[in-house]
Amino acid sequence: MNLEIFEHMEKYRFEQLVLCHDQTSGLRAIIAIHNTSLGPALGGTRMWTYKTEDEAILDALRLARGMTYKSAAAGLNLGGGKAVIMGDPRKDKSEQLFRAFGRYVESLGGRYITAEDVGTSVQDMEFINMETKHVTGVSADFKSSGDPSPATAFGVWQGMKAAAREVYGDSSLTGKTIAVQGLGHVGGYLLKHLAEEGAKLIVTDIFADRVKTVVDELGATAVDPKDIYGVECDIFAPCALGAVVNDETLPRFKCKIIAGAANNVLQEERHGDLLEQKGILYTPDFVINAGGIINIADELQGYNRERAFQRVAGIYENVQKVFTIAKRDKIPTYKAAEVMAEERLNKIARISIGSGVQ
Ligand code: NAD
Repeated sequence: MNLEIFEHMEKYRFEQLVLCHDQTSGLRAIIAIHNTSLGPALGGTRMWTYKTEDEAILDALRLARGMTYKSAAAGLNLGGGKAVIMGDPRKDKSEQLFRAFGRYVESLGGRYITAEDVGTSVQDMEFINMETKHVTGVSADFKSSGDPSPATAFGVWQGMKAAAREVYGDSSLTGKTIAVQGLGHVGGYLLKHLAEEGAKLIVTDIFADRVKTVVDELGATAVDPKDIYGVECDIFAPCALGAVVNDETLPRFKCKIIAGAANNVLQEERHGDLLEQKGILYTPDFVINAGGIINIADELQGYNRERAFQRVAGIYENVQKVFTIAKRDKIPTYKAAEVMAEERLNKIARISIGSGVQ
């Protein structure tokens, strides 16, 4: 193993790393807890075919740290954690595996609360729930918040409106041209809000049937996936993949704002600097796409959808705060989002967690 784990944990101020092994079920999992100053570390469990143990550990650490920033910036009293299970979600799942994992979550006594993520489902959460109550996203019968996508989409819509206000002096999206990349869970709900507000929609997806539905139902204009970056529009909304702002796409953008649901939109931090130089307002991903975690966090008090969505609406103000910090400190918006999270953490916890999400 090449990874210097304690050095890495010290550099980024991690609290705890748990390696979970169960002989009977074949469980090999990692739980990373970055910071619990604001509250228990909440973050999903990812199941993935990691090539090496180092890759899995680093992914858990990186994702856990991202959750600290996301929850802090969202104003939640939650810390940052994440778990990864090494394995193929199509072949290696079993009740024993998730129950064994659930026992590890239970052993942490509530310092870590888990949820669905890439490769895990409601059914898996229910197996975990047989061993621990520190799990969210079990089925609606148990008062769960359910699919996070409607809340994420609602938050992205609010964040877009805050960005429109910053650029155009008016938060209305009526008549604005918005290019949406990815018509999946979040993209689908987002498009309904945008269409109701009277935005002009340009859409793309790699699945033709999804595109056809949106064109037929909402009167959107379709473009080829490779052409979406260069369309003339007010807002580009990445709702498919990460790293879509990169050396290849940057020269092609003809938008004024980038605001969408995707995680890790900037391939590298310098791409955020370049967007600013180009006069494109970037609405930082972990601030604008926090609707899902805000919605899940509401479960911890006994889920109330109306209250949860009211809190998600606060993404409008959070995005405005990011723009204010960017102007105050004369820094690009992606850095301002990190400063916003760190300021809250340092104020509440009176400790420094080091800087930068990457
Ligand atoms: P999804 O898988 O339901 O939808 C993604 C869509 O993007 C799919 O329709 C897919 O076909 C399309 N797509 C993939 N590659 C594409 C390409 N090259 N060009 C165009 N379309 C492409 O996922 P989702 O739940 O809607 O999430 C979308 C993004 O938002 C992801 O990056 C996810 O990490 C992020 N996110 C989601 C949530 C949530 O609540 N679901 C919360 C926070 C962040």
